[in-house]
Amino acid sequence: MADLPPASLRLKIDRDAIAHNWQTLDRLSGAASAGAAVKADAYGVGVDYAVPALRDAGARAFFVAHWSEVPAVLKHVPAEQVAVLHGPANAADAAFARATGVLPVINSIAQARVWTESGGGLCHVMVDTGINRLGLSMGDIGDPAVQSLEVDVLLSHLASADEDIASNRKQFDRFETAIEAVPHRRTSLANSAGIGLGTEYAFDLTRPGLSLYGGVQREELVGEIRQVVFPQAAILQTRRIEAGEGVGYNAQFVAPCDMRIAVVSLGYADGFLRMLGPDAVFRFDGKELPVLGKVSMDMIVVDASEVEDLREGDWVDIPLSLPETARRSGLSQYEILTTLGSRYDRGLV
Ligand SMILES: *Cc1c(COP(=O)(O)O)cnc(C)c1O
Repeated sequence: MADLPPASLRLKIDRDAIAHNWQTLDRLSGAASAGAAVKADAYGVGVDYAVPALRDAGARAFFVAHWSEVPAVLKHVPAEQVAVLHGPANAADAAFARATGVLPVINSIAQARVWTESGGGLCHVMVDTGINRLGLSMGDIGDPAVQSLEVDVLLSHLASADEDIASNRKQFDRFETAIEAVPHRRTSLANSAGIGLGTEYAFDLTRPGLSLYGGVQREELVGEIRQVVFPQAAILQTRRIEAGEGVGYNAQFVAPCDMRIAVVSLGYADGFLRMLGPDAVFRFDGKELPVLGKVSMDMIVVDASEVEDLREGDWVDIPLSLPETARRSGLSQYEILTTLGSRYDRGLV
């Protein structure tokens, strides 16, 4: 196959912003060190961009969810620094951990047995302190299958760290109980928002994800976290339309006067969902290009009446401040990032 021509969509990734965000979260973690959640291709940013930036900034603990995510991360960091959150469901998973040297997170008595039967050795253990998702129940932590594990990090996950509610303290207290009950080397509780709860919640190791990539969910992080991902899309075509003509599916926008419009190579398949369309404004050279009508799968039409120098092939900036876009759309900052899709040429700023 011939080489692919450049895409008409690009995602500029600010490596310095990733490093800055990690260093900020590491500092806010007090005496604890910050690790990094890099699951789901580093939340859509791209493991090949995020992991080297995080490693060079100083991160030494990387978390993925699936075993399938391990090889991409191992291109950049040593295996003993990589943990797989979903844990070993069967002998094949455990064998893969052994062969690669990455550490499983044990989430149940069944997983503890799978790991021990495969030969055991150093692992992490997740205790469920109230999110009721993945992890050992508090009632199971005394089980001999758990007590016989060789535990590096004992971890738990907060359900509502982005809120100031009593359940955070309750999970904290349960985690302290688990710390007493399960022999371990290190402890870890806080995600990005949990770091905002204060250093008391940081224990030995924090596990930020979202905020590494520009997400801000708590007051304490406002002004501390920088935007990481900057999408740009090419203009496919410009045209003139007359007053009364409709734009896009169902003619949701009808031109009130003669206009010059431009078709942008970006659509909901690239994570720019329909709900982001109304009131959105793209930019060219700082000049405003308001979005018109419905967002299509691969195209968005903008009003270029005031930007006469805009031409086919020009690149326009797509605004993507995560906190602001989430506020406007009702989407979560996580969803906005992880649904960006694969059609962008990713590259450093
Ligand atoms: C995804 C994840 C994180 C990171 O959470 P953020 O809210 O993105 O900071 C930390 N720990 C666990 C167990 C996770 O699954």
